[in-house]
Amino acid sequence: MKEALENLRRKADDEMHSAKTGEEFLGIKTRYLGRKGLLTDLLRGLKDVTPEEKPILGKLSNDIKKSLLEKIEKALADIEIGAKHKFLGEEKIDVTLPGRGVQYGKLHPVTRVEGEICDIFANLGFSVVEGPDVELTYYNFEALNIPEDHPARDIHDTFYVTDNVVLRTHTSPVQVRTMEEYSPPVRILSPGKVYRPDSDISHTPMFHQVEGLLVDENITFGDLKGTLSFFLRQMFGSDTKVRFRPSFFPFTEPSAEVDIQCVMCKGAGCRVCGHSGWIEILGSGMVDPEVFKTVHYDTERISGFAFGLGVERIAMLKYGISDIRLFFENDRRFLEQF
Ligand SMILES: [Zn+2]
Repeated sequence: MKEALENLRRKADDEMHSAKTGEEFLGIKTRYLGRKGLLTDLLRGLKDVTPEEKPILGKLSNDIKKSLLEKIEKALADIEIGAKHKFLGEEKIDVTLPGRGVQYGKLHPVTRVEGEICDIFANLGFSVVEGPDVELTYYNFEALNIPEDHPARDIHDTFYVTDNVVLRTHTSPVQVRTMEEYSPPVRILSPGKVYRPDSDISHTPMFHQVEGLLVDENITFGDLKGTLSFFLRQMFGSDTKVRFRPSFFPFTEPSAEVDIQCVMCKGAGCRVCGHSGWIEILGSGMVDPEVFKTVHYDTERISGFAFGLGVERIAMLKYGISDIRLFFENDRRFLEQF
């Protein structure tokens, strides 16, 4: 029995010697010390030995069991530490490397300028109203004093969906829709996309417009001039020179085109302003009573003014961009500059 125990101890030591992995050590533990292990099996023979031998053999087998367990646990701990060191050795973190930058999204310059325009008018008490891009010809033309045979329909080259449905050529239909729904006073701004079949360095088939409408009692051309001058000085700087030129629009009477002194040459004359020193920036006028009649407003009691401007045009002047098509090419090198 004693010899068998000693043999077992040697055999286990040999196996431990050649074992390398944690799994191998756990295998040895099960093989010798498990419920059906070799040592456990041998200990069952203890009951057959003489009373003198029993304490000696009992102590010996306990010693073997204890030392075997200790060796296995130490080996397993060493393996774990080794693995940790290996991991730390391979996964070095270089804290001196610069961090990776986070890429932020940005507002499109057209969206940004549209927002600026709306903010300035919001401070004057205008509220923003939107309407459909696909519009009835009634709202796009007839209700705005542009009958079927009116020459103004020719200036407004139009995308027709059907005979009486178009892609709106301006955001003015929103003004009519609003006046149909609300009584004066009305003070609204209608930003949005508009469509005209045109494409060159200063035109795209789709572009953005902001139009405004103010209707109340005793509104005069002086209010129009004051409001638009204030807006342009907010937009382009407090020293911006503004001038009003007589013009024609079917839905306003009288009408005025508004120029600002050229932002590029400060009035000296350059390519951008056609050497005139002035840049046309928006159209405006006192709302034609004919338009008020279609929405059943009392033309004796109320009056109002309207204006409209192209957002891309303002953005081009503000940022010094020479080709409108750049806004819609989605070239990140262009867009990232704003
Ligand atoms: Zn100029």
